[in-house]
Amino acid sequence: MKPGGCFCGTIRYEIGDGDYTTANCHCTMCRRTSGAPYVTWLVVPKDEFRYTAGEVTVLESSDRGTRYFCNRCGTPVACVTVAHPDVVDVTLGSLDAPEAFTPTFEVYTDTRLPWAHQRD
Ligand SMILES: [Zn+2]
Ligand SMILES: [Zn+2]
Repeated sequence: MKPGGCFCGTIRYEIGDGDYTTANCHCTMCRRTSGAPYVTWLVVPKDEFRYTAGEVTVLESSDRGTRYFCNRCGTPVACVTVAHPDVVDVTLGSLDAPEAFTPTFEVYTDTRLPWAHQRD
C-alpha cells in the first residue's frame, strides 16, 4: 500500500500498489479548487483506496463530480465523477511519495494555460 494525506496530517489515506493511470487535468474547476495551474490525478479503483484517518469535507463542484478536501488545511485529496463512480481520482501531490508516478496524458487541454506545455 502507498500512503498519502493532506498537508496538516488530519486526513490520511492509502492506495494499492497498482500502476495507476496518471493524468494532468487542465480543467478550470481543478485550477480553481487547487489554486494551481493544473492538477495531476491518479485513477485508483474504489476498492484500492481507503481513508485511514480524518474526515474529508465534500464539495459538489458540479453535477458531474464531487471533490474531497481537508477543511483544516485545504488540501484537495480526491474526486469522484458521475461518469466513473467505480474509481477514485487521487491528487498525486498528496501522496507521501508522489515521485512513484509519472503522468502519461493530459485532459481538458482546451483550457490549458498557454505556457503549460511541458510534456509536448
Ligand atoms: Zn489537512
Ligand atoms: Zn480537472
